[in-house]
Amino acid sequence: MLRARVAKTAAPAPSKVAGSGAILVRTTYRPVAHPTRDDLTDAFGRHVAWTSDHPLGLEVASALDAQIELADGRRIIDMISGIAVSSIGHRHPAVVSAIHAQVDRHLHVMVYGEMVQRPQVELARALSDLLPDGLDVCYFTMTGTEANEGALKLSRKATGRTRMVAFERSYHGDTMGSLSVTGRAVYRRPFEPLVPGTTFLPFNDVAALDAIDDEVACVITEPIQGEGGIRVPDDAWMHRLRDRCTEVGALLIFDEIQTGLGRTGSLFAFEQFDVVPDILTLAKALGGGMPLGCFISSSDIMRSLRNDPPLSHVTTFGGHPVSCAASLAALRVLRDGQLHKRAAWIEETVRDRLTHPAIVDVRGRGAMLGMELTSPALTARFVDHALELGVLLGWTLHADALVRIAPPLTISEPILHSALNKMIAALESASRSA
Ligand code: PLP
Repeated sequence: MLRARVAKTAAPAPSKVAGSGAILVRTTYRPVAHPTRDDLTDAFGRHVAWTSDHPLGLEVASALDAQIELADGRRIIDMISGIAVSSIGHRHPAVVSAIHAQVDRHLHVMVYGEMVQRPQVELARALSDLLPDGLDVCYFTMTGTEANEGALKLSRKATGRTRMVAFERSYHGDTMGSLSVTGRAVYRRPFEPLVPGTTFLPFNDVAALDAIDDEVACVITEPIQGEGGIRVPDDAWMHRLRDRCTEVGALLIFDEIQTGLGRTGSLFAFEQFDVVPDILTLAKALGGGMPLGCFISSSDIMRSLRNDPPLSHVTTFGGHPVSCAASLAALRVLRDGQLHKRAAWIEETVRDRLTHPAIVDVRGRGAMLGMELTSPALTARFVDHALELGVLLGWTLHADALVRIAPPLTISEPILHSALNKMIAALESASRSA
C-alpha cells in the first residue's frame, strides 16, 4: 500500500438532487466530457473515489521501464513498481506487442472456463512447467484478492471443513473473504461481521502452530509478509507449518501475490524455504501490467470446484485473454532473462548504499525490501522529500516507520544509483527538518 502523500484541494462532488428526495430519471445525457489538463485534477477530486483524504494526485503522462513521466514534465523513478506489479518495468516491449497481437485476435468471448483460449491455456501450461508437481492446474482471476477468495473457497470445498487459520499482520486483500484472513483488526473492524471461524496466530512462532487442528480447512500465509512490514520467517517455522498442515490434513495456501515471480530472488519465494504449498495464489506482477490473478493447485484438489453443484465458483472476466497474453510475454521475459537474479543485485546495492544514522534496519529479500527509520514522522517526511527529488516510495500497510523499496527488476544501474543518491539526500534533509 502507498500511504497518501499530497493534500488535495478539489471540492467534493455536489449532490445532484439536493434535499428533494426525488428519484431523478434522465431522458437525455450530456456527451461524455473529455477534461482538459487544467480541470483533470478537479475532475479527479469530484468524480473518482478516493481511498484516503490525501491521495498522491500526480498526473501520469506515460511510463517506461523504471520511470514515470508526469504531465508537468517531471520524471520520477518508480521504486515501488506500482506495488510489486511492474517487475519487468513499465510497458515492456514484449508485453506491449503481445497485447497488440491479442487485441487483433479477440477480446472477451465467454465466461471463464468454458472455451479453449490459446493465451489462457499456454499461460497455465507455462506456469505449471515452472512449478513442482501438485501445482499444475490454474484457475485464473482478475485480481489478487479474488485469487485468495478462490483459494479459501477451494480449501473448504476440498476438505469439507470450515475453519481457517491466518497470521497476525498478514494482508490478503480487501474483499470480505480475504479481509477475514487479514491480520490487522483495525482494517477488519469496520466491516465485521466477517467470515466466522478464523483464527489468527503469531507469525513465525513455532509453538503457536499446535493450534492448527483437524477441523482446519486451510492455513493461509505470505511466505514473506509484505504489508506486515517485510517480515521474513525462519526456515524452521516454514517447515513446521508444512508438517503441521500435513499432519492434520489442512491445506496450506501460500499467497505469493507480492513475493511471486522473481521479486525475492527466486521465481517463487517458497523455493527459498524448500516448502511446497497445496494451493498457491499469484497476481500483481503476473499480468505484466495487466490485471490478472490465479490460484493454482493439484488436479485432485481443483476438481472439487466442478460439481456439488457444478459452477460453484465462476467468474466472467477471470483470465481475460489480453491479460493472459501479456502475462505469458512477461513470464518469458522473466524466465529467459533470469530476472530473478537481478533481485539479488538490487538487494546488495541497496544494502550497500543505504547507510545513515536514521536507518534502524533494512530487511527483506531481493527486491522486496523495507527500510525502517527511527520514527513514523521521519518516515513520512523522508517519503515526501524523496518524491520532491523525483523518487517514488511508499509505506507498507501495517508498519508506519517502514519504507517499501521494490523497484522493477529491470532497473538499470545508473537509474538505481540515481534513486539511491536522491534517497540519501532526502534522508539528510528529512532528518534535518525534524
Ligand atoms: N495478497 C497480498 C500479499 C498482497 O500484497 C495484495 C495486495 O497488495 C493482495 C493479496 C491483494 O491483491 P489485489 O490488490 O490485486 O486484490
